[in-house]
Amino acid sequence: MTLFRAQVLDTPDDPFRGGQLRADADAGLLVVDGMIAERGPYADIRREHRGETVVDLRSGLLLPGFVDTHVHYPQMRAIGALGMPLLEWLDRCALPEEARLADPGYAREVAGEFVASLVDSGTTTALVFGSHFAPAVDLLFEKATERGLRVTCGLVVGDRMLRPELHTTAQRAYDEARELARRWHQNGRTRYAVTPRFSLSCTDELLDSCAAVHEDTAGCWFTSHINENPAEIAKVRELFGCGYLDSYDKHGLVGPNSVFAHNVHPTDAELKLLAATGASVAHCPTSNAALGSGLFPLDRHLSSGVRVALGCDVGAGTGFCLFKEALQAYFLQQLRGPEGVPLTSAHLLHLATSAGADALGLRDQVGDLEVGKRFDAMWLDPSPDTPLAVGLRHADGPADALAKTFALATPHDVHGVWVDGQRVKG
Ligand SMILES: [Zn+2]
Repeated sequence: MTLFRAQVLDTPDDPFRGGQLRADADAGLLVVDGMIAERGPYADIRREHRGETVVDLRSGLLLPGFVDTHVHYPQMRAIGALGMPLLEWLDRCALPEEARLADPGYAREVAGEFVASLVDSGTTTALVFGSHFAPAVDLLFEKATERGLRVTCGLVVGDRMLRPELHTTAQRAYDEARELARRWHQNGRTRYAVTPRFSLSCTDELLDSCAAVHEDTAGCWFTSHINENPAEIAKVRELFGCGYLDSYDKHGLVGPNSVFAHNVHPTDAELKLLAATGASVAHCPTSNAALGSGLFPLDRHLSSGVRVALGCDVGAGTGFCLFKEALQAYFLQQLRGPEGVPLTSAHLLHLATSAGADALGLRDQVGDLEVGKRFDAMWLDPSPDTPLAVGLRHADGPADALAKTFALATPHDVHGVWVDGQRVKG
């Protein structure tokens, strides 16, 4: 049992539906076996639990751990190639790097770097786009388990239009996925996600084998890409003779356990189907800006009732930190003029935490710091001479402090990270 004492900010109620930022200036959180057993004013909790060890975090801010809903593990070393649109960037930058993960020694190093970068940034839960090579996916699950991260991941599959060494067959894709799922699905903090790269790189036969894995692996997740770039969307229509979402839906791959990355250029019919099926969208604003993919229509997603969370994408993104990613989401909405959704700091925290937990079906476990949830948290404690520390000292209340945090915080300011009450950073 441990009693944490801190200024705590979280978003238990969705700010897009009228919820407010919850701010407790001096909270006590009693954590028992990794779960928040009690929460209240510190003095009250302390009175009831005089003997417990106290972890005093009052010099900074305690937030829920970040939930990243779209991040590519094999692209760790491909971050920062600027100046290309999606399909050229894939050919020249991402796919050659992804091919290197055929070597397990190389994959082991990348998996270690990747997991360390997520934890360092305050991310405690992630839906990770895996590798095209089963041993490399195995290594990612291993490293995530070693480090304590909550991870959903799977074998990435494609059977056309990539590099030949990244292509698989329907049977091999099924067999390798099922073996990985047998080892890692619902094993501690890891789960399996069926992961076709995008329908552009998948024949109907391969998408059928994805559907079979999804069907045969109870409670598994599904993730892929959608509507990122106009040239990509036109190619999908040419290949399948239907819209992008329909290319998945006709294989039964659109449902409440589905997370689609990007969706920058959806049709109204696609938004309607996403909402009706309960599927989620992973918004990756930095990547969208870097590849020139477009300005995400958040207003249309919200008015259609589509669930939206955040992803850093990597390597088309520019790093792992969801403070930066959420700030970029804010910038993109500002740039959309009258169609932009004005985002407050509470919206940004929600998108980076509780919205992600909801998209991943983990809302009953993580995403805020309510009683009954797992203690997945980060402690932000900037050095006193930094602009962030100055901003926090002079903030006009908790919402302003949080806005300053999204504007200024980096992984260097994250001094502690916990998953299930276990400290994994600091
Ligand atoms: Zn992606």
